[in-house]
Amino acid sequence: MKTLDHTVAAVPLLQGRVLLHEQARNIPRPRPALDDGLSGVVMTGANADARAFQLRTDVGYQGTLLIDSAVYTTYTATAEEPFMAPPDELFGAVNDSLTFQKARGATAALTPTGYIPPANSRALKAVLREANRIERADTLVSLPIDVTWLNRDNIGQLIAVCAKIRHPKAVILFRQFDPLEQTKDVPANLRRLFTEVEHMSLLRTDLAALDVMAHGALCAGIGVQSSLRHAIPPDEKAQIGKRGGGPTYPHVLMPQLMCFKGAESLSTLYANADPATCDCEECGGRGLDRFFLSDGDTRREADSHNILTWGEWVSDMAGYQPGIERKTRWRNKCAAAVDRYALENQRIGLGASPRSGFQVPAPLKAWATLPVTP
Ligand SMILES: [Zn+2]
Repeated sequence: MKTLDHTVAAVPLLQGRVLLHEQARNIPRPRPALDDGLSGVVMTGANADARAFQLRTDVGYQGTLLIDSAVYTTYTATAEEPFMAPPDELFGAVNDSLTFQKARGATAALTPTGYIPPANSRALKAVLREANRIERADTLVSLPIDVTWLNRDNIGQLIAVCAKIRHPKAVILFRQFDPLEQTKDVPANLRRLFTEVEHMSLLRTDLAALDVMAHGALCAGIGVQSSLRHAIPPDEKAQIGKRGGGPTYPHVLMPQLMCFKGAESLSTLYANADPATCDCEECGGRGLDRFFLSDGDTRREADSHNILTWGEWVSDMAGYQPGIERKTRWRNKCAAAVDRYALENQRIGLGASPRSGFQVPAPLKAWATLPVTP
């Protein structure tokens, strides 16, 4: 394995890629049909560095790779210690962490930034201060921000700080459930952040990855597991839709409707109708109601279906000129998906009571209707 030193710039190696954000708990495996020129892997979680190394050495993976040790899940940034490192050796410890990631096979390095709480300007400015001390070309400054930073009141300051950080940046959004559903102006302001600041990326997200890519992002990362499609503040527990433990079922990306839907609710929705089908390599025309099982094979099959589905959208997008053409195509694709909801609900006999059928997610509606600007 050849390691890249700190003088090799991150930007050209990451430009235009949509990465797979993977949980390090699982043994690394090659994923299906990922175009090496458009993709890569972000290994995350407690053993991210060891798993990343395994992916390089055992699996022989040669593509783009980031290591996200996700310190933001347990550590909150402060004005004194924005990165997880002892204050008296902050600079040295951060540099060691970045060098270590590279030694484990990372293409570029991510700063070990703590979670940046709502409206905590001092913590955000501390990230700027310490980030600009880093003298390396290979570093992405990770910005694990509470989603309220994208509100009308805070977006101006966030943009100003991001513009002053002289490294590429990687935003991770925090909130229970879908961060983009929290307030109405979040999708528009996220887009504004990515349009106004150069070299921004969005990691650990869902289809918002495609929206920012259409609007000039450096790169993005989509979570393979639903827990990796957003992050939760260190002092909160993940709230799941239902009480108690019990089995968990895969979330399935619906190709026509462009939304993730739980396997359990798909099985209910399609109980008395022909299920929507999928023509991806994994599904081969089979129904999308078949994932209501909690075993590992079903989960892997659902993961592959999801990756193949959005992977095709990434390839499509790469085929359009960046700028107005790409933005318009993406908006039209979202609008076509929004239009499909009523049709699908009617087809399965739920047309008269839309509350029980498929609901258009608020971010998708925003992407379908927000104006396209040059
Ligand atoms: Zn499929």
